[in-house]
Amino acid sequence: MQQAPIPTIEPSNPNVLRWDDIGLTLIHEFITKGEEAAMIEAFHARDPAKEGKRRISQHFGHHFDYTTFGASETHFTPVPPYITDFLPRLPIQSHLPDQFTVQYYPAGSGIPPHVDTHSMFAEALYSLSFGSAVAMQFRMSGPNDARKMRLPKRSAQNEKNHTESPAATINNNANAPGDDAIPTPDEGQQLRSWELVLPARSLLLMTGPARYGYTHAIRPRKTDVIDGQTVPREGRYSITMRSVRRRDEIGCDCAYPGVCDARIREEMALLAASRGEDDASLQE
Ligand SMILES: [Zn+2]
Repeated sequence: MQQAPIPTIEPSNPNVLRWDDIGLTLIHEFITKGEEAAMIEAFHARDPAKEGKRRISQHFGHHFDYTTFGASETHFTPVPPYITDFLPRLPIQSHLPDQFTVQYYPAGSGIPPHVDTHSMFAEALYSLSFGSAVAMQFRMSGPNDARKMRLPKRSAQNEKNHTESPAATINNNANAPGDDAIPTPDEGQQLRSWELVLPARSLLLMTGPARYGYTHAIRPRKTDVIDGQTVPREGRYSITMRSVRRRDEIGCDCAYPGVCDARIREEMALLAASRGEDDASLQE
């Protein structure tokens, strides 16, 4: 594991850390402790299952519509005030998120390395952490990731699950022993990975390479090393915020075709077409 790259600290606000060449911004203390406590209370008021042993997800805003492959205009869950209240403070105001997934992660749980679907969501991806800190692992994607995303059955399933509910993908991966699609980064890839501590109440913004080219993950383990100290993990909450692309906006021309779902679909279509031609020539 490498050390995280050194951030640039915003001169006007030392809570804002930026890695401009990667496309990462981390804002410490983005919400207050009071807001954090209110969020946790609101989250559990909505979900009676308060037991801290299992993952809980709540979805707000526009749902994903599998018939139009875009944002559903009819299936919408009102966004609670504890989210709408901080939207005016997001660093990019020109394109605010309209889809929100609030999740509770029991202490010690992880998320396997993945790249969020490119084509269905606008560039800016946000993750607000609260309740507890966690270390997130970043790694530039490589041939292994590209290969995994092209496993026919697997990639379709991943995409659907991930778009619909990130937790479903996570559970599938974690509970499938012997499945050769489980990420097994080779040594070279492992060397390039590094962790960034996301403190409670911090906001992470991913754009550019961090959004399109890097995988992000949370290693399942009981502790994190924060400022040189081993700290036990506690239950963590996160709000993933995305902007769902509308019909004409769906697509991607990023610089990372290896892990780009739009490119993979094009490849598959070309492959299917060439197979069709082969079949046709055989019949002649
Ligand atoms: Zn892409």
